[in-house]
Amino acid sequence: MKALALISGGLDSLLAARLIEEQGVRVIPINFLIPFCHNKKAASGVNSGLDRIADSLGQGLKRIDISSEFIGLLEKPRYGFGSNMNPCIDCKILMLTKAKELMGELGASFVVTGEVLGQRPMSQHKQALGLIEKKSGLEGLLLRPLSAKLLLETLPEKEGWVNREKLLNFSGRTRRPQIELANKFKMKDYQNPAGGCLLTDPQFSRRLKDLIRHRQLGLENIELLKLGRHFRLTDQAKLVVGRDEKEDNELLALTKDKDYLFMPPLEVAGPTCLGRGEFSRELLELAGSIACRYCDSKANPAMTIVYKRIPEQQERMIEVRPIEEDKLRTFRI
Ligand code: SF4
Repeated sequence: MKALALISGGLDSLLAARLIEEQGVRVIPINFLIPFCHNKKAASGVNSGLDRIADSLGQGLKRIDISSEFIGLLEKPRYGFGSNMNPCIDCKILMLTKAKELMGELGASFVVTGEVLGQRPMSQHKQALGLIEKKSGLEGLLLRPLSAKLLLETLPEKEGWVNREKLLNFSGRTRRPQIELANKFKMKDYQNPAGGCLLTDPQFSRRLKDLIRHRQLGLENIELLKLGRHFRLTDQAKLVVGRDEKEDNELLALTKDKDYLFMPPLEVAGPTCLGRGEFSRELLELAGSIACRYCDSKANPAMTIVYKRIPEQQERMIEVRPIEEDKLRTFRI
């Protein structure tokens, strides 16, 4: 008997998979990648904590990138957003629909998740759990071992593929029972409960809303949202200011053709700034004055900012003064 287990890296999904494995079911761990998840970097093949944990289940972790479908649903999720830009119900339906498609290919008879009844207001109350199960086409085949005793009996329980008596009745937001169970299983290497989804972060959500409003939602622009300070200059142009050397280097790595780079002159310490979109002469000066605001040049605030347009090598100069704080705030996202 085989089951697919959705693994986010958070403790609940790992415990759920482990409980089913303990009952002699072969568990195939699946991690769906979206561009808002801190786990994404591990797709490069680096053996992450998540891989190690999944390996402890006895099976290699299967990573499946659903970024483009996920971005599509962000513009207008059928079941709306949570308290930030997290469309949790649509997200779960998408992942579980994909899991259902994989069941045949991988020879699995049912799907396991770490959802806990009442843990999250939007997507884990009884009605939402039922809706997610129905809309993903997994009616009767979706087992939530951590709360199974509080939910309707599923086919795996009815058929005796798993013993319902050995499943649990966790509910609500407390983490204590999960921590106790993790200790019993000697599990240590797990992430925070939400698995690190940036869509639950208010600041990130504000930036994402701005992208959607300006019809600029795409993978490259989403990656930029994870770095720096963001300024909306016009409907067509924005500026991202690095906050430290690491971010400056990451911004450099994310530049693409037609982007602008703004930097202080060599003798002044200051950030790398990336401008994306249409920049008139006036806008170049505005971007330069924002870059200047973050440079370390108190003695002489007016300065020359160096800029160039990618992929041109030619550097140009612009004479600017730092933007006033009141004006700066009007551009901040
Ligand atoms: S928190 Fe993020 S990853 Fe988790 S269900 Fe919601 S949208 Fe999906």
